[in-house]
Amino acid sequence: MKETDVIVIGGGVVGCATADALARRGASVVLLEKGDDVAVGASRANSGIVHAGYDCEPGTLKARFNRRGNEMMWRLVRELNVPHRKCGSLVAAPEGGEEGLRQLLDRAKKNGVRAEIISRERALDIEPNLADKVSSCLYAPDAGIVSPYKLTIKLAERAVLNGAEVVTEAEVTAIACVDGKYVLSTQKGDFKCRVVVNCAGAGAAGINAAAGAETFETEFRRGDYFVLDTTEGCNVSTVVFPLPTAAGKGILVAPTADGNVIYGPTSVPVAGADTAVASDALDEIRRAVPLTYARPAFNKCIRVYAGVRAIVGHDFTVEESRLRKNFFTVAGICSPGLTAAPAIAEYLVGLIGEKMPLAERSDAVTVLPHAPRLTELSDDEINAFVAHNPAWGRIVCRCEKVTEAEIVAAVHSPVPAVTVDAVKRRVRAGMGRCQGGFCAPRVMEIIARETGVPLSAVRKGGAGSEIAVIKVGEADYD
Ligand SMILES: Cc1cc2nc3c(=O)[nH]c(=O)nc-3n(C[C@H](O)[C@H](O)[C@H](O)COP(=O)(O)OP(=O)(O)OC[C@H]3O[C@@H](n4cnc5c(N)ncnc54)[C@H](O)[C@@H]3O)c2cc1C
Repeated sequence: MKETDVIVIGGGVVGCATADALARRGASVVLLEKGDDVAVGASRANSGIVHAGYDCEPGTLKARFNRRGNEMMWRLVRELNVPHRKCGSLVAAPEGGEEGLRQLLDRAKKNGVRAEIISRERALDIEPNLADKVSSCLYAPDAGIVSPYKLTIKLAERAVLNGAEVVTEAEVTAIACVDGKYVLSTQKGDFKCRVVVNCAGAGAAGINAAAGAETFETEFRRGDYFVLDTTEGCNVSTVVFPLPTAAGKGILVAPTADGNVIYGPTSVPVAGADTAVASDALDEIRRAVPLTYARPAFNKCIRVYAGVRAIVGHDFTVEESRLRKNFFTVAGICSPGLTAAPAIAEYLVGLIGEKMPLAERSDAVTVLPHAPRLTELSDDEINAFVAHNPAWGRIVCRCEKVTEAEIVAAVHSPVPAVTVDAVKRRVRAGMGRCQGGFCAPRVMEIIARETGVPLSAVRKGGAGSEIAVIKVGEADYD
């Protein structure tokens, strides 16, 4: 049975940031993820906003980790080569909404976050397409956008390059305490460690119960989105929020770090982590967007998606269990958890550092090499790449111009992409206007060839999502 210092449960952005931070400080780490890849929970489907931190209740862990996470994020994304833009954010208020903006400004001051209330005229310099009804805004220059799943994947990759092991399709189903150590059971076998960090997101309550640690209730809220084609990207310069309500930050309009635009999210109470999009939720977005944004372009929608927030009480929980020594609970990491993830990991390093020696390794990998992309290369560079490797000359995804060489590199990356969706999250094959209509079969062939499995075993994502289930011409359709 494999034994390590630490096991991190959950390959979301928080678990991957924690594994990365621990591995860089010399701990032996295994990360266990129940999905087929990292970034398959809330860290895959959110707004991708690096929040400034003006709206968290002062004194909470959310406020503290949001501010620190924002400070850490901009260096982190450069080190990891993750798409990002520090584009600032606006809270757009209609006439009569000034008091709401003043309350946010007051919170910003208490949280130590830069923000100011600006006139409509100044706000139009930042976002020319504000709706006519917007009369003033709260501007937060330190907010921005990041690719949430690429951040998560790159954190996992850096953890692996620093010696951690990421085990996917390893759902933790039981936790036993044996001679002061923990033994975690999964379908990939048992894993032993001294310290457990529960970063299981929507599954965190079940993990705590299995370990005999504190139990808690989780509330789930689904957020639905429209994704617009990249041709719309030039029309949205910054993140535009409405005034927040009790249900959350409201329905925003934002560019994505990869050049698309999103409208959303809703905040719909749901029974569990079900990410099926609902049409009434999309109607709510259709009604909300024109209140802040003058150029809604729902006709440019290329996809809808939803993510689910796991909420526990009103704040994040990041603590050692009082019932189980060396067992850490990281739960209720809803928004701004993406922003806060590096700060949560830093805090956990401090707590775990009281249990074992942890010190920054001088030989740790810090900066990840830039994976070249066809769209970023000059003609001369493309010619040189193709001469060296003809797969650079074979475009597989026409919408996003992704080559076979980029897909092969993703399949053999430190956290290998072995499903169609995992390839998509790494290199954008299938992220464009046709949503994989043309390239998915080619991506499947490449995965099958590179991993040595039959085409019928290649999956879209998780278990049971095989795509090529029958061979046309040989099977009886009836
Ligand atoms: C709609 C929406 C919008 C948001 N927008 C923003 C935003 O703009 N900015 C921001 O800062 N934050 C945002 N957030 C919050 C942010 O997405 C989350 O805080 C963050 O992704 C949580 O990361 P996590 O690692 O805790 O959870 P997750 O990403 O959910 O990861 C948990 C992982 O644990 C795995 N797991 C569960 N059970 C087990 C088990 N038994 N064994 C092994 N693995 C297990 C799951 O498969 C999953 O991969 C948003 C969230 C949502 C839902």
